Amino acid sequence: MILNPATQERLAEVPEADIADVDRAVARAREAQLRWASQPIAYRSRALRRIADAIRDNLEELALLETDNVGKPIADSRGEVAMVADTFDYYAGAVDKIVGQSIPVDGGVDFTVREPMGVVAVIAPWNFPLAIASWNIAPALACGNAVIVKPAEITPLSTMRLVEVVEALDLPHGLLQCLTGKGSVVGHRLTDIDGVDKISFTGSTEVGKQISQVASATLKRLTLELGGKSASVVFADADIEKAARAGVGAVFGNTGQDCCARSRMYVQREVFDDYVKFFAEASRAATIGDPRDLATVLGPLVSAQHHEKVSSFLTDDVDFIEAGTAPEGPGNWFAPRIAVAPDRSHRLVQEEIFGPIATVLPFDTEAEVIREANSSIYGLSGSVWSGDIGQALRVAGGIRTGSVSINSNTSVRVQTPFGGMKQSGVGRELGLAALDGYTELKNIFIATS
Ligand code: NDP
Repeated sequence: MILNPATQERLAEVPEADIADVDRAVARAREAQLRWASQPIAYRSRALRRIADAIRDNLEELALLETDNVGKPIADSRGEVAMVADTFDYYAGAVDKIVGQSIPVDGGVDFTVREPMGVVAVIAPWNFPLAIASWNIAPALACGNAVIVKPAEITPLSTMRLVEVVEALDLPHGLLQCLTGKGSVVGHRLTDIDGVDKISFTGSTEVGKQISQVASATLKRLTLELGGKSASVVFADADIEKAARAGVGAVFGNTGQDCCARSRMYVQREVFDDYVKFFAEASRAATIGDPRDLATVLGPLVSAQHHEKVSSFLTDDVDFIEAGTAPEGPGNWFAPRIAVAPDRSHRLVQEEIFGPIATVLPFDTEAEVIREANSSIYGLSGSVWSGDIGQALRVAGGIRTGSVSINSNTSVRVQTPFGGMKQSGVGRELGLAALDGYTELKNIFIATS
């Protein structure tokens, strides 16, 4: 049963696929892929543009499904669905740019071509269900693959609707399919079965490692976008008020359920108190409440189970500042908190929380803060706030993460590569870099002697 996290009311019942359903879907996808890859380039490019147009035509419905199912503020949902359409448009333009190389060799001519992998399974999470699914579906289709998408069990509604919208466009039957059900059944079978060539997974590092193991039996290609514990480094010569106010979106956006959340904020000691004051003020001004209300900035947590997990971080050994007030009554509401200078070994500093709890820590020197920012098993994203561009670039270069923003907390754009170092993942999504993850490189040699 699918619940609305803001009210805990029933939203829908969805079918649970079993192993036989997965096997039939894979067989359909294999046939569809051959038909799709043999279509003219202009047809495939136009098809992706038609998907983008159809998403825009259904934007409000898709955004409302996301809001009701995830508890996401409607302004965010609209922005995310617009980005989904932009993602399909971007990869529509990439279909005729999947190029190889010609390589100087003796005795002939040598060149490379990029071929589709075949069938791609996209296993998606619950925090940005449609956006993250589309970051993988769109480039996979652009490269000539068929796709089976498995949304998270608790947030399938927007993805199911997207696939219906695409089915109405009369593309090869089975090109894009949605299988709902449990990760341990549907996700596991997609990872295990021979007929799937590639898995694009976004979720926890723990499940990512399990997928990696199961997929190794058939040596499936993998893109893994996993957890994060990103740092925001704020130097004393930055615009402190601006950095602190931007911190609200950076760590409490999507109610903290964001793999790029800057949940460790390192602030230079001389401006530490000012930063905490501005940050708490700005956070208290953010409206927490009905996700369908345009003024809402923070909705509830996605599930009662996740609420319990986030609550386990509120221990008595740490000073927490209440940084907002959550509504009373049903719903998985959680007021944002700021943890002030806990011990560096505390789980607040070490573990991914995935909820609206920020940790603010003082530092003194550039070398010390680079060391601290890197003292994590994760390496997804991060920010540097500084008035000295040389210093900002040195620190950005020193932080071992897949992306860093200077005087900004952004991580994701359709045009730029996104992904993690260390235990935050393998491979890159988005931008032209994603095309490498959905093609196999073939070398062809022609003898001329
Ligand atoms: P999971 O990693 O468990 O789930 C992500 C996706 O994988 C879901 O579709 C899930 O299906 C599926 N899945 C689960 N088990 C398997 C399996 N054995 N084989 C194949 N697929 C599987 O994340 P959770 O939803 O449990 O969230 C747990 C934590 O993960 C969060 O608290 C957060 O720390 C992190 N997370 C990180 C995300 C990110 O963006 N990097 C996104 C979401 C979570 P099902 O939902 O049906 O179980």
